[in-house]
Order: sequence, then structure tokens, then C-alpha cells
Amino acid sequence: MAKEVSIKGYQCEKCGKAYAFENQADDCCKEYFCRECGVKLDKYHTLCERCKEKVAYEKAKKMTYEEYVKEYGDNMVVFGDDYYSEIEDVLDYCVQNEIEPPKYVWGTSKQTVKLDADTIEENALSDVFEDAKFSYKGMEELRTFLDEWNKKHRIDYYIEEPIVVYVPEDMLKDLDKQI
Ligand SMILES: [Zn+2]
Ligand SMILES: [Zn+2]
Repeated sequence: MAKEVSIKGYQCEKCGKAYAFENQADDCCKEYFCRECGVKLDKYHTLCERCKEKVAYEKAKKMTYEEYVKEYGDNMVVFGDDYYSEIEDVLDYCVQNEIEPPKYVWGTSKQTVKLDADTIEENALSDVFEDAKFSYKGMEELRTFLDEWNKKHRIDYYIEEPIVVYVPEDMLKDLDKQI
């Protein structure tokens, strides 16, 4: 038993390839351009690398290195995809690798991982009867113990933030002398 049917499809107007759905055909030969500078991009991209950096720069909080150190202490800085303890290290890296030193680097915020008594209790008792609790005294001891433990063993790490930290002019000048 057969019945004749016509199946609807969509064709890319440019290359002629057929698809079941209209958006697929629309997307087929669609070209992507940077919305800032118009350069041609890979599929689904909207900003080129240069403009991405430019937009991020414009939106970022900006500070001198002095201000950064004052506000964020010994936080690391980011250049490229790498984290450095201080700007001097970024410049050393540039000299060693013959890269032009940057005018600015990115700031970071400090994150800390500590062990937490309540989470430990919750995990330990998750399969026990409802409302199970360790004794109050036991939890107090654990908290006191963990306070000390965290002071010694907590993990600090840094994540990149939208903060532009300018490389001090005099550091760049010193660098010119070295090259
Ligand atoms: Zn096409
Ligand atoms: Zn662009």
C-alpha cells in the first residue's frame, strides 16, 4: 500500500544543499563577521580575538600597579593564558621569549578552599536516618580543629577578573635598557 506524498524541505540558496528545517538551510552558507571590525570569522563567532580584547578592556576596571597591590595585595596577574606572581615576572618572560612587553595585564581575585565542619557532617550523615546529628560537643571540637587545620592547609588560588592593571612606565623604560 503506497500513497504519494511530497516532503517539504529547505534549500540553501547559495549552495543548493537541502535540509529538513529552515534554520539549518539559513545557517548553511551563512558567513560570520566580527561585529566590531567586520573581519570574517569562523562559524558562530561574533567577535575577533583583537576586538574581544578591546571590548574586555573597555569594560574593565582600570588601575595602576600601585593601586592594585594596595587593594589586592599579593594577588597574581594574568598575561596571555598564564598567571604570574607579579608584573616583573611577566616582563622577564617577555624578555626571555623576545615578546613585546604588554601595556597592561589582567588582575585576579583570590579564592580559598577550606574544609567546613557542617559540610563534612552533612556528607557523613547523608545516608543515615533523617535528622541524624553528631553531638554538639563533637562538632565544636571539629570546628576548633578545622580552624587550625585550615590556617595551615587551605588552598588559595586566583581567578582572572575584569581588572586592567597598567604596567608601570618606569618598568617598561628599564626594560628598554635591557634589550
Ligand atoms: Zn549552503
Ligand atoms: Zn574584530
